[in-house]
Amino acid sequence: TSLVPSLSVRGEFPAIAGWHYLDSAATAQKPQAMIDAVTAAYARDYATVHRGVYERSAVMTQSFEDARGAIARFLGAGSPNEIVFTRGATEAINLVAQSLPRVGRDRVLVSALEHHSNIVPWQLAGYTLDVVPLTDDGRIDLDAAESMVSERHRVVALAHVSNVLGSILDATRAADMAHSKGALLLLDGCQAAPRIPVDVSAIGCDFYAVSGHKLYGPTGIGALWGRTALLEAMPPYQGGGAMIDRVTFERTTFLPPPSRFEAGTPHIVGAVGLHAAIDWIGKVGLDAIHAHEAALVAECRSALRGMNDIQLFGPADSAGIVSFAMRGVHPHDIGTILDDEGIAIRAGHHCAQPLMDRLGVPATARASFAAFSDSSDIEALLRGLDKVRRIFS
Ligand code: PMP
Repeated sequence: TSLVPSLSVRGEFPAIAGWHYLDSAATAQKPQAMIDAVTAAYARDYATVHRGVYERSAVMTQSFEDARGAIARFLGAGSPNEIVFTRGATEAINLVAQSLPRVGRDRVLVSALEHHSNIVPWQLAGYTLDVVPLTDDGRIDLDAAESMVSERHRVVALAHVSNVLGSILDATRAADMAHSKGALLLLDGCQAAPRIPVDVSAIGCDFYAVSGHKLYGPTGIGALWGRTALLEAMPPYQGGGAMIDRVTFERTTFLPPPSRFEAGTPHIVGAVGLHAAIDWIGKVGLDAIHAHEAALVAECRSALRGMNDIQLFGPADSAGIVSFAMRGVHPHDIGTILDDEGIAIRAGHHCAQPLMDRLGVPATARASFAAFSDSSDIEALLRGLDKVRRIFS
């Protein structure tokens, strides 16, 4: 018998009927409420935002700005004006890397488990990276970080939850660590925001990046939260319509944040869909989702731990993500055989090649859970791994 509390939301996800979807860390499936909101936004309410003089556009503008407010509340931000709509976490981090004034500092402190999107933007912007090592159980080693952070670091940029190991960062301690040397803390909240309650004010971080599609919302929409004073000190990231105050051929002035960072027609329906997704998460409750995923992780890890050909990565209290390897079998073969059984896992480097190097493997197999996952997914996974074993023995 299973100890996993049932959230009973599986039936709200039409695209997973008859399928064992264990790849929510890549992208979450969508609840009907979110799909309905997107459909209504296109089929009934559609118009542009910010520019129309007609009623429909004013209503859509209100919906778009309501979405900003909902994201602000969801993340514990002080004001909706601290929320910049982006294409996702990747664009959010690129925005900070490109626009943040350096104030004479030329280094960024990252960790060994970062996603490429929290490594490459800093490199492109010309920063030198220092890399915080991991503890043996796969957490960011904050003792080491405390001894590494210096007056040369402009930003400490860390994953709030690892997309490979599921390890949860002690974010408050990370903020104190960064601030002790005058550095800013940017948290990559891609995996944390769908899995644990987030309150940027309580954490004391300076920037927070999320992707809508991991939050049960649409692709192509995400958000950057930044402190007002920091956003105000940042020049525009891209130029175009909607971000200007006055344009002449000689000189252009810009709107205040967040508009300054939102050049062009935004992903209007994406914002509406993300709002619906966040409302859906609020209805289920992030505490309940976290408890549900923690129970699934415990069940999955305890079953895999009993198999002597399986190597488990990451800490026991992972937030909904279980990475593993099977002796003598490449993770891609595991993924292909499981796919034949109607089970979707991720196999590969998970956009974290430096972490694979540290773990000493080319790739891992990764099962990741969400609110709609249940024990039947784990049972299917275990049956699938038995089949992998039979084929390879
Ligand atoms: N950071 C982490 C930890 C992630 O898991 C991901 C997505 N796999 C990203 C950043 C990038 O997100 P996106 O591709 O949605 O911009």
